[in-house]
Amino acid sequence: MMIVMKEGATEEQISHVVERIEEVGCAAHVSQGDLLTVIGAIGDRDRVSSLGLEGAPGVDHLVPILKPYKLASTQFRKGERTVIDLDGRKLGGEHFGLIAGPCTVEGREQTLEVAQVVADAGATMLRGGAYKPRTSPYSFQGLGVEGLRLLEEARQQTGLPIVTELMDARDVEDVVEVADVIQIGARNMQNYTLLSEAGRTGKAVLLKRGLSATLDELLMASEYVLKEGNPNVMLCERGIRTFETTYRFTLDLLAIPALRELTHLPIVVDPSHAAGRRDWVAPMSLAAAAAGADGIMVEVHNEPEEAICDGPQALPTETFAEYAEQVRRAAEVAGKQASAV
Ligand code: PEP
Ligand code: MN
Repeated sequence: MMIVMKEGATEEQISHVVERIEEVGCAAHVSQGDLLTVIGAIGDRDRVSSLGLEGAPGVDHLVPILKPYKLASTQFRKGERTVIDLDGRKLGGEHFGLIAGPCTVEGREQTLEVAQVVADAGATMLRGGAYKPRTSPYSFQGLGVEGLRLLEEARQQTGLPIVTELMDARDVEDVVEVADVIQIGARNMQNYTLLSEAGRTGKAVLLKRGLSATLDELLMASEYVLKEGNPNVMLCERGIRTFETTYRFTLDLLAIPALRELTHLPIVVDPSHAAGRRDWVAPMSLAAAAAGADGIMVEVHNEPEEAICDGPQALPTETFAEYAEQVRRAAEVAGKQASAV
């Protein structure tokens, strides 16, 4: 925190601020300029905030200098990056992960077929929603527990770890039985009780960026999971709302280098929900991988035309192997290891 004193603040007023900072166990660094004096308070930000120095005599204003998130910040790991390791399938640091699968689990044949194709093509995790956050309450809401059982079967068949969404804390026990990674959807990014609940499960968490959330808000949301003692969080850029309506959402690729600077957490990009159209998914995947994303999460379907949910953006199983190979090559350009296990 920096405390900026008013022009002409007296020695007594400056000393008073310094004393108050030191009283709460923080250090005060006084910097005296020609016109203004600025006091840097080093230490626990909450303690300095609790002093209410805004109202102290001679104080003009306070400037927070540390980011409000702590556990997610790059400084917290002193430059080391978080690597999510699920039975040797790693994502983060120099390891690139490819998470692929249907938008939603529709049935046994569809789930197992897609799972096998993506596994054979070298995907490192299988995605699939059993609980779906749909804009309309009249749309298909997911198969629920039956869907979770099918994902379990797909894991047994392919060995791929399962990424699936938790929408409601009441379903946490069912989801935890099957999920290797709990997905928190964009619409729930700021559902803080759900975030804490997911954190307490100890499972890895894939946290999607809210439709209109800033990166700071995303990082603050991740802090709720981390605070529960769960270090395995990946952040997911999936497109944000802007004035542009040509595509479903605007994929914010700058989030990749920006988040890399701000946090040690792995960054996954979901081009499917941003594009809304399958022919735009590959170029955005390549761009994201080349820009240094730690992983890509993409929707795949064996019969995209018949898909119950998000068919237009689903990659067909027929071309998935070629797509996966291209994405791995782009990740390698960015210096990542993109092998399957
Ligand atoms: C999804 O990945 O299935 C999904 C619903 O995405 P989002 O929460 O980003 O809309
Ligand atoms: Mn979807």
